[in-house]
Amino acid sequence: MSNLRELAENWLEKRPFLKEYMELHLAIDDVFLNTQVDEVVSRSIKQGKEEFEKGVELINIKGLEIFEAELAERVFRELPSIAESYDFPEKLANSMKDIGRYVVANEGFARAAIEKALNQESFEDFEKQGLNAGLVLLFAQKAIEKAIQTAGKTIGDFLAENPWHKKTCPVCGGIPTMAILRKGARGRSKYLVCGTCRTEWTMNRIECPYCDNDKQENIRITEFDAEKDLRIDTCDACKSYIKTYTGNSVDDIAMRDFASIHIDIAAKQTGFNKVGSLELKD
Ligand SMILES: [Zn+2]
Ligand SMILES: [Zn+2]
Repeated sequence: MSNLRELAENWLEKRPFLKEYMELHLAIDDVFLNTQVDEVVSRSIKQGKEEFEKGVELINIKGLEIFEAELAERVFRELPSIAESYDFPEKLANSMKDIGRYVVANEGFARAAIEKALNQESFEDFEKQGLNAGLVLLFAQKAIEKAIQTAGKTIGDFLAENPWHKKTCPVCGGIPTMAILRKGARGRSKYLVCGTCRTEWTMNRIECPYCDNDKQENIRITEFDAEKDLRIDTCDACKSYIKTYTGNSVDDIAMRDFASIHIDIAAKQTGFNKVGSLELKD
C-alpha cells in the first residue's frame, strides 16, 4: 500500500497533531481493501440521462441502482472492528468499540446512520445514545462512498459527458466540502468534492458553492505560506469558505481535508464557516 501511506507519513512528520485522524482514515481504507466490491452488475446509466438533466441525482433515479444499500450497510458494520487491530489512542478506540457494540445490538442502526448521512440530517440522536456522532458520520460516509465506488468508473464517464448545474452532489445530493483546481485541455477547471460520497463534479470557477453569489469582488482567495497547495475561497455573502486544493497530485483528497485542520482553524478565526462536515472528536 503504497504511495498513499508513504505520502501520509510525510504529511504527518510535519503535523504530528493529526496523526490519529490520519491513521483512522487509512485504517478504514485498509478495511475496504478486504471488502468485496466487485459484485455489482453493470448498469445502463444512460437510461437515467433525461432525469439527470432535470436535476435528479443519480441515486434518486428510479430503476438505476447506483447505490447498493445492503453493501453500504455491510461496510458500515465492518468498520468498528478496525479498533481491534489498530493502535488508536484509548478514547478513540473506545468510541469505535461503542459503535461496534451498538451496531450488533441494534438491527436498524447501520441503515439509519446511512440514511441520515444521505439526507444531511442531524446526528444528535446518536450523541444522545452515548456514541461519538462525528465517528458515526464518518463511518456512514465511508460506507456510502464505498457502495457508490463500485460503479465509480461508470459514474465518472457519465459525469464527464453530462453537465450538472446544481451545487450539491450529482450522485447523492450531498454538500461539497472541498474544491480542486485541475489542469485540463482547456486550462484549469474547478471541481467540487462531495463530503458524503466523494464524487467530484465541475463548477463555475468564480461562484460560491454554498449560495448564489457569483460576483468576483465578493469571493476572496486566501493563501497560506505553510501550505502551498491549499487555499481557501471565502464568500462575503454567506460567510462560508471552501478549501481548494491547487496542487498537481492525484492522491486522496479526503486525506488532504483531514490533514489541513489547521487551515480550518485559521479560517474560523477570521469569521468564516466550514460547511457540510461535522467535527471529529477523539
Ligand atoms: Zn455525493
Ligand atoms: Zn456564499
